[in-house]
Amino acid sequence: MQHAVWIIFVAAFGACIGSFLNVVIWRLPRGLSIVFPGSHCPCCGRRIRWFDNVPIFSWLWLRGRCRFCRVGISPRYLCIEAFTAILLVGMYVAYYVFPMRAGMGRFAETWPVFLSHATLLCGLLACSAIDLESYHVPLEVCWLISLVGLAAATYYPSNQLLPEVSQPTAAACLGAAVGLAISNVLMHYGFLQPSFLDAEMHPRFDKEGDLGESPAIQHRVAMTARNGVQPRVEMLREVLFLAPAVLGAVGGYWLVTKCAGVGGAWSSLFALADGRVGMHLNGLFGAVFGYLIGGLWIWGMRIFGTFLFGREAMGLGDAHLMAAAGAAAGWKVPTMAFFLAPIFGLLWAMYLLARRGQRELPYGPWLSAGVAVALLFHDRISRFLDQFSEVFGGLR
Ligand SMILES: [Zn+2]
Repeated sequence: MQHAVWIIFVAAFGACIGSFLNVVIWRLPRGLSIVFPGSHCPCCGRRIRWFDNVPIFSWLWLRGRCRFCRVGISPRYLCIEAFTAILLVGMYVAYYVFPMRAGMGRFAETWPVFLSHATLLCGLLACSAIDLESYHVPLEVCWLISLVGLAAATYYPSNQLLPEVSQPTAAACLGAAVGLAISNVLMHYGFLQPSFLDAEMHPRFDKEGDLGESPAIQHRVAMTARNGVQPRVEMLREVLFLAPAVLGAVGGYWLVTKCAGVGGAWSSLFALADGRVGMHLNGLFGAVFGYLIGGLWIWGMRIFGTFLFGREAMGLGDAHLMAAAGAAAGWKVPTMAFFLAPIFGLLWAMYLLARRGQRELPYGPWLSAGVAVALLFHDRISRFLDQFSEVFGGLR
C-alpha cells in the first residue's frame, strides 16, 4: 500500500522531469536559456498555458497539436515524458519492491541514493537524445549528475550501494582532484590549451565557438587550417592536461602511506566526531574514486586508441558521461557499462547491417544503456564476476 502511494508520486514526478528534459534536449544544443522564456509554440509563438502544459495528458488531450495554430507537436515530447515516468517507476519497483539491489532498504531512508541514481538516468536520457541529434554530449548535464552524486554519497554513505575506498586511496583521490583543478586553472589562463580546437567549435548548431580571442589559440586555428589536425599531437595535449592529476594521485598516496605525520593526521581526520566525519568522507571519496575510474576507462581508451591508430578515438564527452556515472553510483557501474556498451553497439550494428543504409550512431547512448543495465543488475553481475575471481584466485 505504501509502495502504491510512492509509485504514483514517482510517476507524476517522472513525467514532470520528462517535460523539463524536453526543454533541455531542445534548447541546450541550440545555446538557448533553459529557464527563459517560458514554454511557447515554436510556430505561432503563443505562450503555452499551464493547463496545456501538463505532462503526457495535455499532448493526448490536444491530440499533438497547438491549441491556437493547430501545428503538429512532435510525438517525441510525449515519448520522453512517458519514458522518463516509466524509467523512474521501473527503478523504484526494481529497488524497493523486488529488491534487486542489496542495501536499498526503505525509500524513506535511502531516498538520497534513489535521487542520485534517478538524476543519473534522467541526465543520461537527455545526453543520449542530444548526442543522437548533434553528436555532442552536453558537459553541463554531466557536471550536474556528478554534483548530485557527490552530495548524495556524502550525505548517505553506503558501502553496499557505492563501494568505499581505503584511506590511502582516498588521499590519492584528493590528490587527483587537486591536480584536475590545477589543470583547469592553467587552461583558463591559457597555459594549457584545449585539444582538437576545430572539434570544439563545430558541434553546436548555430552558436559560434568563442575560443578565438587569445593570439596563441588564433595561431593554432590558422595552423590547423593549413596542416590539418594531427591527432597524436592533440593527444599529447590531453596527456599534459592529465599529468597533474596523475602526479597528485601518486603524491597523495605516497604522503599518506610513507610519511608518518601526514598519515596520522589523515587518519585522525577520519576519526573526528567518533568516526562520523570518516563515514561521510568515505562516501565522498567513494564517489570521487568512481568519478575518476569512470572517466579513466574512456579517456584511457581514447589516449591509447588515438596513439595506436593516429585517429581520434572515443569522444571526451563520453569520458565525462562515464565519470558522472561513477560519481553517482561508484566505480563498478561505469566499469560494467564500459564492457556492456560495445555488446549493445555491436548488436545494433548487426541490425543495421541487416537493414542497410542507416546513419552511423554516436557511442553515448550505448554507454548510457550500459549504465542503466549495470545499475539494475549490479548485484547479479557482481556475483557472476565473483565466480571468475574465484577461478583466477585458484590459479594464483
Ligand atoms: Zn501554435
